[in-house]
Amino acid sequence: MTIASLSRKNIQTLTPYQSARKLGGKGTIWLNANEYPRSPQFRLSGKDLNRYPEPQPQAVVRGYANYAGVAPENVLVTRGGDEGIELLIRAFCEPGRDAILFCPPTYGMYAVSAETADVACKTVPLTADFQLNLAEIKKRLAEVKVVFLCSPNNPTGNLLKRSDLLELLQITQGKAIVVVDEAYIEFCPEASLVNELKNYPHLAIIRTLSKAFALAGLRCGFVLANPPLIQTLSKVIAPYPIPVPSADIAEQALQADNIALVQTRTSEILANRQWLAQALADLAQVEKVYPSEANYLLIKCLDGEALFNALWAQGIILRDQHKALNLQNCIRITVGTQEENQKVVEAILALSRD
Ligand SMILES: *Cc1c(COP(=O)(O)O)cnc(C)c1O
Repeated sequence: MTIASLSRKNIQTLTPYQSARKLGGKGTIWLNANEYPRSPQFRLSGKDLNRYPEPQPQAVVRGYANYAGVAPENVLVTRGGDEGIELLIRAFCEPGRDAILFCPPTYGMYAVSAETADVACKTVPLTADFQLNLAEIKKRLAEVKVVFLCSPNNPTGNLLKRSDLLELLQITQGKAIVVVDEAYIEFCPEASLVNELKNYPHLAIIRTLSKAFALAGLRCGFVLANPPLIQTLSKVIAPYPIPVPSADIAEQALQADNIALVQTRTSEILANRQWLAQALADLAQVEKVYPSEANYLLIKCLDGEALFNALWAQGIILRDQHKALNLQNCIRITVGTQEENQKVVEAILALSRD
């Protein structure tokens, strides 16, 4: 009897999430996890760690509510957006019976969290222009308790049409939770569904400090929803999820002066994205640069594997997407500093000269 065979059947067959960090690489240029390229500098306000933290750090709750334009009762602070995804599945899906639905190609954690909880995954692929196939989704909603949608979508970079999201919210009323993952919403804030919270008790929005706020190492995210949904998630979250140092720095990150800095850095990233998209589009190896509303670009290459491997060998680490549904020869590139972006373009250009 091996230890692995003692574990649950669904864990034995589980393919864990392939995080960018786990995939490794000897990088000098890291453009594979959609992080911000430089770290902001914060200082811890205190050093005492003998006491447990607040179950929900109130200053962070208030700070994020204020930033997002909602009330504190609409906010749950989580260990990254990923914990929000897991809590929604744990709180709403009956193992072995209920299902979640999502639309690939999209973020990998919806499937991993569902499989871990023994919750079935129903998938309705995005259309050729990476939009929702509502007709098909409507047919597949039986047993579905949570629908996960990602907008801007990772890894394709586009927004889902607002009218489609609203139509889906209409159809699912009273039947399922609709989660809109807004991990990249700072790059297109006008697209947020946060103003729809007042209309839809079954809407949950995932947010994070890992992307535009440049704090992936902090592990701090949020669920925004109406109080009954937040209270349900509060029942299943760990008693002290947010470490004291994380809450301390998250509180500082949500102060007005820092939010202004985030907005400045976000506009820089958008300008750099425009430069990078144009430069990539001019390269012979690159067949297509997909439009993006986020801090990354999806490109289709003549030979994606060769390009990915060649840059990997030079220490330029990108995210290979060839295994994702309908993304053969595609690579996702995080927008880095202008120097990093230039090096990527030069490295790809050099490939056509060999
Ligand atoms: C990065 C990301 C998250 C959450 O990341 P955390 O670091 O756990 O906050 C959630 N959804 C998508 C689509 C992401 O890309």
